[in-house]
Amino acid sequence: MSIEKEVEKRNHRKLGQELELFMSMEEAPGMPFFLPNGMVIRNELENYWKQKHQKAGYQEIKTPIMMKQQLWEQSGHWDHYHENMYFSNVDEQNYAIKPMSCPGAVLIFNSKRRSYRELPIRYAELGLVHRHELSGSLSGLLRVRSFTQDDAHLFVREDQIESEVDKVLDLIDEFYSEFGFSYKLELSTRPEDFMGSVEIWDKAESALESVLKKKELPYQINQGDGAFYGPKIDFHILDSLGRSWQCGTVQLDFQMPGKFNCQYIGEDNKPQIPIMIHRAIYGSIERFMAILIEHFAGEFPLWLSPVQARILPISDAHVSYAYQLKEHLEIAGLRIEVDDRVEKIGLKIREAEKQKIPYMMIIGDQEVENKSLAMRKHREGNLGQMKIEAVVDQLRGEK
Ligand SMILES: [Zn+2]
Repeated sequence: MSIEKEVEKRNHRKLGQELELFMSMEEAPGMPFFLPNGMVIRNELENYWKQKHQKAGYQEIKTPIMMKQQLWEQSGHWDHYHENMYFSNVDEQNYAIKPMSCPGAVLIFNSKRRSYRELPIRYAELGLVHRHELSGSLSGLLRVRSFTQDDAHLFVREDQIESEVDKVLDLIDEFYSEFGFSYKLELSTRPEDFMGSVEIWDKAESALESVLKKKELPYQINQGDGAFYGPKIDFHILDSLGRSWQCGTVQLDFQMPGKFNCQYIGEDNKPQIPIMIHRAIYGSIERFMAILIEHFAGEFPLWLSPVQARILPISDAHVSYAYQLKEHLEIAGLRIEVDDRVEKIGLKIREAEKQKIPYMMIIGDQEVENKSLAMRKHREGNLGQMKIEAVVDQLRGEK
């Protein structure tokens, strides 16, 4: 197949419609609607994310979508990011819809007196953000105006920067490996429109560079492409067609903690300013889903598949056993459907194949009699007759 055909076949907007994952509507340009099948994938991605972060010592938070204008003036977003923001007015006060979750995390950090012993504090937030993009540039889930960032904000001491960045890089590596992505790294340095002093910027850049060198990771330098508040390492993942997508990012920030008077009490009993690390792994859940749809061509691994198996009774006489089987498999934690229409089995198989359902379970007289099922795998065909317990073991092992 030519590369153009392969790209077209994998187009996430086309597959999103065929597999009923999401839709785009005139009523909210650039703000996707998630359909039940798409929500299953989304929830699996979020659950996986939550588990991994809990294990890695993060605490989950949730901050408001809309906060007062003055907060955004204080954070610097008003000056540096105004054109991409949405605004509102409530009780005669100006508000902005958050384009990033950082200031919210800062308010939580500042809500208590902090000691050096508490650091690093790692706040993780699946934050819904809105950013204005030109209507002509909107596309499916790839370029949107509202999306969920898998954000985290780490408040660290200066002596913890390198070890924390090191751990973040390991966590990101774990995620991308799970989906079979390799990746390239880019280090972005001080832009023209920067905040703070050159000296601090140099320090931040060399801290990031030193971690990359210690881990012996190859990277490219993007001169002048850092965020306005600090330098960053960007991750560009490579999909199954060899296309590159920017997803994860790790950004050092020596500015925002000072602007918001963040403090902790140091070992010497004197107040100190922590350093902030902003980071994301998926980047945005929506965009990452678009990449996954194209990467897998809609043939998701079992744990992400909206329907993991469809039971296909051959005739009416097998329907009641099909539903018993469904119940049994659902108790085992699997997502199962029954195709109980009065249609030829060949047609039911063709449709399940077309919908890329990983497994089909065919039920006839013999299967009802010996409490089994005839297993069929998407693309691979017949796997033979199997007992229910063996099926449960196999599918749970694959998850
Ligand atoms: Zn941030």
